[in-house]
Amino acid sequence: EFIKQYASHPNYKAPTGSQLHAKSWQTESALRMLLNNLDAEVAEDPSELVVYGGTGQAARNVESLQKIIELLLKLENDESLLVQSGKPVGIVRTHAEAPRVLIANSNLVPAWSNWEHFQSLKERGLMMYGQMTAGSWIYIGSQGILQGTYETFVACGEKHFGGSLKGKLVVTAGLGGMGGAQPLAATMAGATFLGADIDPTRIQKRLDTKYIDRMTHSYEEARDWVMEAKAKGENLSVGLVADAGDMLEQLIADGIVPEVLTDQTSAHDPVFGYVPNGMSLEEAVDLRKKDQVKYKDLSLKSMARHVGLMLDLQKKGSKTFDYGNNIREFARQGGEPNAFDFNGFVPEYVRPLFCEGKGPFRWAALSGDPEDIYVTDQALIEAFPENKHMINWLQEAQKKVSFQGLPCRICWLGMGEREKAGLIFNDLVKTGKVKAPIVIGRDHLDCGSVASPNRETEGMKDGTDAVSDWPLLNLMSNATGGATWISFHHGGGVGMGYSQHAGMVVLADGTERAEKCLKRVLHNDPAMGIFRHHDAGYDKASKFADDFDLNVWK
Ligand code: NAD
Repeated sequence: EFIKQYASHPNYKAPTGSQLHAKSWQTESALRMLLNNLDAEVAEDPSELVVYGGTGQAARNVESLQKIIELLLKLENDESLLVQSGKPVGIVRTHAEAPRVLIANSNLVPAWSNWEHFQSLKERGLMMYGQMTAGSWIYIGSQGILQGTYETFVACGEKHFGGSLKGKLVVTAGLGGMGGAQPLAATMAGATFLGADIDPTRIQKRLDTKYIDRMTHSYEEARDWVMEAKAKGENLSVGLVADAGDMLEQLIADGIVPEVLTDQTSAHDPVFGYVPNGMSLEEAVDLRKKDQVKYKDLSLKSMARHVGLMLDLQKKGSKTFDYGNNIREFARQGGEPNAFDFNGFVPEYVRPLFCEGKGPFRWAALSGDPEDIYVTDQALIEAFPENKHMINWLQEAQKKVSFQGLPCRICWLGMGEREKAGLIFNDLVKTGKVKAPIVIGRDHLDCGSVASPNRETEGMKDGTDAVSDWPLLNLMSNATGGATWISFHHGGGVGMGYSQHAGMVVLADGTERAEKCLKRVLHNDPAMGIFRHHDAGYDKASKFADDFDLNVWK
């Protein structure tokens, strides 16, 4: 009956309201967030259980998904469900404050951890790609990445353009699940925006959700729109249906040098993500089926050309950075020797925030009522009156972000702030100011939860970019601290072999149990970022460690 109503493939919808279907809010919250990940408003392709990021899935296949749902509906509060690459494989005896779901996705022994080996297992139905928040059930649509992207563009404006992107042109490509946040983030930061995507349906989705203003198939039309807007200092965003490299080539031919240049095509997956230059979408789908070796070769060469054009524009003056899709690595493999001549966005703009334990804190209202999110927004505005930047973000988000699936909010918060916010939310539930519990989570892209040498841990001060003890310690501390579900994944963001990362979600259901868990988890989780960056020699992290009395090794 439940499956028929909420999970009849491919129509997924989280239940809303204050009625339980599972045995407790802990299991109900996991169930609702899993279904929310697959809601057509949220997921890029529910028919394939793909949530975002190329092939990032919420469950391995429809049978596994239905079994997970069935087990979550029955699970007791002294049991925990084990999910292995999107398939439920067992239930273990635990206790009331333990996580209800333990998830491991896409992990392979290092010497085997490449796309080819993974793909051979995937084809035999033995694995799935979990990305970061797809397989860990805390993807919240494009808003999830919106604030991070906004913070990055704002930081870029501050670092290079005297504090504002007004009258500046931001050029990028890839307007998919995450990349689709770029146009809104750029215009919120004041810029004029031009982004290419080879797939018009992806741009259409951004139009439908008001993340982008206009779409065209004509380069000339796109160019004229953005150049006119830029001249007037207008924050217009335009999506061009085109190959990324082709668009850059035309901009160069026209002598246009964007002030800011980046890319969010799904380059992390050269076979099932990136579309090679000169190929239609249909031809790409066809070649993926027929000859993956040839596809990969064409894809790597196209990325080499694409990055080569980015390097050209960088030389002409564009502030150019890699936006976390590993395109430099694959361009290098495709024959562009200077691919790493521009930096990733983390060392450029985000690391100082990581040193404060700051990261992409997010929450969702299980009631399904947008009013509950506005109540949480207001509570944070009152709790942090000194944080003008956060207040500006929350007010802008209220005006500009349309909710997808369950109403939710993202807001980068740091050490101390996350714990305070979590306890406030628990109180709002307890006192009935919101209509149902609030789920709190974060991206795996966080200060202490990921090892990813071409992205989050690129260029660490002490050279420990590839050390993945940190995300494992993060996972263990969130398990023992009492998160509601936890996950450990491989490959998210940058592809197989290039990253390992941990996720956590913790529930505020207004109970004393939740209060204890929130105090531990929302303290320990950002503290891990401070431990990690203090250990690597960042003075700012050491200062925060002192301020919060974290007792780290001196
Ligand atoms: P997605 O698969 O939903 O979207 C990728 C888009 O790229 C698709 O719309 C596809 O049509 C387009 N594309 C592919 N080849 C192209 C080409 N040659 N020219 C133009 N468009 C092309 O993926 P997503 O969730 O948007 O993520 C995009 C990439 O960015 C991923 O690699 C992801 O890991 C990375 N990412 C990084 C961060 C970060 O570090 N902050 C955040 C989000 C995403």
